Amino acid sequence: MSHAPPPACPFCASAHPVHKPLAESTHWKLYRHADPVPIAGWMMLATRAHRSGLEAMSDEESAQLGALLRALAQATQAVTGATRIYSLSFNEAVPHFHMHIIPRFAEHASTQSWALADFYRSVAGGTEHGADAATAARVASEIASEVRTLLPAVWSASSITHG
Ligand SMILES: [Zn+2]
Repeated sequence: MSHAPPPACPFCASAHPVHKPLAESTHWKLYRHADPVPIAGWMMLATRAHRSGLEAMSDEESAQLGALLRALAQATQAVTGATRIYSLSFNEAVPHFHMHIIPRFAEHASTQSWALADFYRSVAGGTEHGADAATAARVASEIASEVRTLLPAVWSASSITHG
């Protein structure tokens, strides 16, 4: 009897480089958003385990979340120079609870507040260009390096991938 087919989860099943975590803690993994990404530096902080949302987190997961979110927002701002750092979460496409951490720039009016959702759909649908994939990969790698510097004790050194 073979194992059941793997779950339809891009984080668990995919070997695609974009779905490789850039950093890992005991309960969380740091990813960059898959291409096409609307804005370079769009990061995702996800639970290791499948969780439907905030309400399903363990004590340990929730205890780490605040420090990780702050460090990730600070690292994203430091690397990108963004005007603001957005955070949001839906948990519809991936069965891991995950927060999107997004740099928003004053000169890019079409990403302000809920307009970001329209821009996101335009990029996903191919009617507007998002970030260049190579740039998005480089910026995400820099953010991952910075967030490791901010919280060195939380991230597992062996999990950090470069490039
Ligand atoms: Zn999964």
